[in-house]
Amino acid sequence: MNETENMSNEQRHAIYKNLAGTTCVCGSAKKARQSLCRAHYFRLPPGTRQALYETEGYPETFARACETLGLALPETGVAG
Ligand SMILES: [Zn+2]
Repeated sequence: MNETENMSNEQRHAIYKNLAGTTCVCGSAKKARQSLCRAHYFRLPPGTRQALYETEGYPETFARACETLGLALPETGVAG
């Protein structure tokens, strides 16, 4: 049972957009195709870091990583 499985398509889209972008959800610079800035990435447990390279279930993995780090998920651009 995992609450992030009920993630909206808008949220998934925002997460992929974040992956392609160059700003971490915290506002720091990151590289495109990297999930997080270095500071946040290296705060994750090794298993979670590895999981972020899996294409399958990527948005859910990213959401769990944000939860672990106490970070908000990327803005969806949808009000509410
Ligand atoms: Zn960051």
